[in-house]
Amino acid sequence: MDYSKMRPESLMMTYGYNPKLSEGALKCPIFQTSTFVFNSAMEGKRFFELAYGISEAEQGEQLGLIYSRLNNPDLEILEDRLCLWDKAENCAVFESGMSAISTVMLEFLSPGDLLLYSRPVYGGTDHFINHVLKRMNIESVGFAPDSTKEEIIELIKKSGRADKLGLIHIETPANPTNALIDIEMCAAIAKEFSTADKQVILSVDNTYMGPMWQHPLEHGADLVVYSATKYIGGHSDVIAGAVLGSNALMARIKGLRTFLGNMAAPFTGWMLMRSMETLKVRTEQQAKNASEVAKYLRQHPKVSKVYYLGFIPEEGTEREKAIYKKQYPSAGAMISFDIIGGEAAAFKFLDNLKLIKLAVSLGGTESLAEHPYTMTHADVPNDVKNNMSITENLIRVSVGVEFYEDIIADMKQAFDSI
Ligand SMILES: *Cc1c(COP(=O)(O)O)cnc(C)c1O
Repeated sequence: MDYSKMRPESLMMTYGYNPKLSEGALKCPIFQTSTFVFNSAMEGKRFFELAYGISEAEQGEQLGLIYSRLNNPDLEILEDRLCLWDKAENCAVFESGMSAISTVMLEFLSPGDLLLYSRPVYGGTDHFINHVLKRMNIESVGFAPDSTKEEIIELIKKSGRADKLGLIHIETPANPTNALIDIEMCAAIAKEFSTADKQVILSVDNTYMGPMWQHPLEHGADLVVYSATKYIGGHSDVIAGAVLGSNALMARIKGLRTFLGNMAAPFTGWMLMRSMETLKVRTEQQAKNASEVAKYLRQHPKVSKVYYLGFIPEEGTEREKAIYKKQYPSAGAMISFDIIGGEAAAFKFLDNLKLIKLAVSLGGTESLAEHPYTMTHADVPNDVKNNMSITENLIRVSVGVEFYEDIIADMKQAFDSI
């Protein structure tokens, strides 16, 4: 049987796991062990030569298990399975999305370098860029999602560090308004500033769509990063992250992960393997529900605007339509909307939701709602918020797997309470 022809969802239960190596257990056990027994001293020596890059693996030779900071079956099997969705050569899982992102930035940026990023990015990422990296003399420039290639190149040149551009880090669709960025355009900019001895890396935070609905590597990105806490985990019960890319780039990321020690724990790996079995059915239901919820919100008299990717084919600009067609096979399950009446109306709505929970985070099986202006994006400067339509009217909803009529009924009674 040719497994390479099968879809990822068909392989999530079995791929990369051999029951014979685990007493015939159908499911991959939790390998809750810090270290692994070598068959011989010579074998231990060889494993370390490979792990530390002292010598190259021979054809078909694989790195054996050494110590759970370097490798562990729960992480390796999970990483193999994550590669299938993004058609990546290699993957590294981390104990959080932030550890995945910060490890990428620390590996590909050095003091004196320049980072280009899309604004706004996830709050934790923004803080890491503007506080932690800054302390190391790594400067950054942010660009708005609707910037043209020429405008972005101008920003890079004006920074005075154009020759030191090391990394471009973007989030598309941008959280919370679903603004789109053209990944191919960013890849072209990375290429333009790359030289014979320095490759400018393009990394895309794909958390907002998840591995089902956007595949940045196919559009020229070098790395895809995830907060696996969101769609990949999908049940709001685990914090984790992942990075995917070529073998060469991932060898560098895994090297730094080994020495920062921020790999995921075996139990986290096991939880995520369990989650990935249902990734497709969960997210397809969430997307279906989201399209019903978005239609309901659009006609509601207390709503002035709905930000939902599914409306782009009819209502978007030419630029948005082109990017949407190229990058997204689904509109996803993240919706934001402007409620009429500012913070007071928004809070009344949120406080009166019953089935939908008032919480940050996204991508879980349950529907969640929050107020970006005062919650997830509280730290973003007001001018950036205003430029991005993040106002006091805005409410963000992560649509779950509940029956959509129940989600809508809950929204209806919350609107009626205003
Ligand atoms: C949640 C999130 C992160 C951070 O992930 P953690 O798992 O919380 O560390 C990064 N990027 C995006 C887009 C997120 O939504």
